[in-house]
Amino acid sequence: MSNTEQVLDVNVTSLNYDQLISSVNQKIMGNEQANIIAINPEKIMTLQKDQKLKNLINSATFTIPDGIGIVFASKLNNGKISSRITGVDLFIRLLELANEKQYKIFLYGAKKQVVEKAVGNIEKKYPNLTVAGYKDGYVKDQNELIEEINQSGAQLLFVALGSPRQEYWIEENKSKLNVNIFQGVGGSFDVISGEVKRAPFLFRKTGLEWFYRLLSQPKRLRRQLALPKFLIKVLFHTKRRH
Ligand code: UDP
Repeated sequence: MSNTEQVLDVNVTSLNYDQLISSVNQKIMGNEQANIIAINPEKIMTLQKDQKLKNLINSATFTIPDGIGIVFASKLNNGKISSRITGVDLFIRLLELANEKQYKIFLYGAKKQVVEKAVGNIEKKYPNLTVAGYKDGYVKDQNELIEEINQSGAQLLFVALGSPRQEYWIEENKSKLNVNIFQGVGGSFDVISGEVKRAPFLFRKTGLEWFYRLLSQPKRLRRQLALPKFLIKVLFHTKRRH
């Protein structure tokens, strides 16, 4: 049975956290490469006008439903995606996996003081994992960076350059890197470092994280207007197929 659904022609996995972690672990043990991309309604709307990026995203190993709008869309399509898999939560679950299995990780992206703080917090919380290296997201010398990641022996690489920059970066560099797992994590280092606060648990639990973020950063309204447009589009797309 396929573990992938299509939402407006974009692949999204229906695996849950445990299944994803176990698949990722198998990739590491088999010394294979895999990449993880987070999908939300805003990204899907952008992809409607960007075929090249859509192809790139559709070729990813795992595309996760980060965004309550994707869960709604799956329901409208009679799909099986029942809850969000957020980029930051999957990142944390992968840190737990690395801690348990003693895997090495590398963090690339965000501002220097942010990534440094994130590394400090990770090392404190997960004493068995090795942060084999890290680099802020504003370095110029890419060859040196690639060399440094390869030298580190990291099996998991987290790239926090924002989207779609991180997706392009991973695509361009994955064949040069002897890393198994690549995850584009957007603003997650900002969260792990404590620089940016996540929505309180109740908002996350009830699918209202977007509302909290809107209240705390009203300038996100423009970005969030993508959500109703997205749902209307999904509805018409679904009707056309029936
Ligand atoms: N960033 C970076 N290099 C750049 C531009 C951005 O490292 O050249 C970082 C930035 O510091 C921030 C992250 O990328 O930590 C972007 O986070 P954002 O929340 O915008 O990403 P999203 O999750 O919305 O894609």
